Amino acid sequence: MPSQKTQVAIIGSGPSGLTLAQLLDGAGVESVVLERRSRDYVQGRVRAGVIEQGTVEILRRAGVAARLEREGLKHHGVEIAAGERRYRIDFAAQSASLTVYGQTELTKDLMEARDASGVPPIFEVDEVVLENIEGDRPRVRYLRHGEPHTLDCDFIAGCDGYHGVSRRSIPASVLTTHERVYPFGWLGVLADVPPVSPELVYASHERGFALCSMRSATRSRCYLQCDLDTDLAKWSDERFWDELASRLPAELAARVVRAPVLEKSVAPLRSFVAEPLRYGRLFLAGDAAHIVPPTGAKGLNLAVRDVDQLAAALAAHYAERRDELLDAYSAAALRRIWRAERFSAWLTSVLHCFPGRTSFDRGMQLAELDHLVSSAAARAAFVETYTGL
Ligand SMILES: Cc1cc2nc3c(=O)[nH]c(=O)nc-3n(C[C@H](O)[C@H](O)[C@H](O)COP(=O)(O)OP(=O)(O)OC[C@H]3O[C@@H](n4cnc5c(N)ncnc54)[C@H](O)[C@@H]3O)c2cc1C
Repeated sequence: MPSQKTQVAIIGSGPSGLTLAQLLDGAGVESVVLERRSRDYVQGRVRAGVIEQGTVEILRRAGVAARLEREGLKHHGVEIAAGERRYRIDFAAQSASLTVYGQTELTKDLMEARDASGVPPIFEVDEVVLENIEGDRPRVRYLRHGEPHTLDCDFIAGCDGYHGVSRRSIPASVLTTHERVYPFGWLGVLADVPPVSPELVYASHERGFALCSMRSATRSRCYLQCDLDTDLAKWSDERFWDELASRLPAELAARVVRAPVLEKSVAPLRSFVAEPLRYGRLFLAGDAAHIVPPTGAKGLNLAVRDVDQLAAALAAHYAERRDELLDAYSAAALRRIWRAERFSAWLTSVLHCFPGRTSFDRGMQLAELDHLVSSAAARAAFVETYTGL
């Protein structure tokens, strides 16, 4: 049976696993990334696109920000619409910005950096099992093309997303989970049409929420709040563009350009936190540890911050034989995670149409938005959290 040894076994080659491998590399710590899917599948997954300044700094340190900084769109504000009303929240007063750059592009940059390091992820692994995580020498067993393999290591980083094996390897008696499942999802499309506005537009409408985002000056990423049982076959491209226009203020609706959709999918919305994030020599990071509804654009950013903290803790272990950062990882990460959960749940609650919403509930949502745009203190707090200052 082929066996291999490394210092850190990383399960999952999403943004958290790949960024962790890069950061560890920079700190002289060896790692091997194991991924269940094929390379093409991972690179083709259309997801996040709003990158915080702090995340850009971490990616720069990881040596993978050059193309993002060259090609990403720098945003200095965001628009919130409610019915016909439009408000712009300016980040300038706080010298804040966001970079719009697709997760697919970031994944490509990270994969190329892993290739250049000479230790690319091992793709298409199956039946991954984590063993001896309470002991000093954990082991990962897996199948590749039907053949059994083992990977011995000092630590395991569970970066395998919400459905991965890592979190499930922690005994139920140790793990506590906290969850809110929303009664709606997002129907998202990607299309080669110019964005309706140069900045993101979040629209709260009687018909439901809509978000106009983008990947470039010529490629839009747009979302509609939808039912969880939405049948994609019933959503022709034309129907999507008509519905999007109906949820935007007239001025923006007039700018909706209709074109064939390149990708269309439904994502359910969920808030989820697992704790603790450490069990023996296993550490959870990214979506394996937490999920936020995408409204606040926090998921990928949180994932990168988790692994930055974890990489520093592992580097201190190897370079200085200091373990206090590893010991502090779970509690410190959870503080940041709960704050992002709070913001994402709040923004979701004020922008979406919940089943059974009363006119009073709608009045409260509009009052929240009115407070946000008319109070300098509320705007400053929003910018601080939204841009991840
Ligand atoms: C529609 C949508 C829009 C979003 N928009 C934003 C946004 O604008 N900004 C933002 O910050 N976030 C956003 N997110 C969230 C963001 O995409 C995720 O938070 C991010 O992908 C998390 O990265 P990760 O590496 O932790 O997990 P993942 O990206 O889920 O990667 C986990 C990897 O582990 C692999 N894996 C799973 N099980 C196993 C196993 N047993 N063995 C080996 N490998 C395994 C998976 O195949 C996957 O490649 C959005 C998400 C969605 C769905």
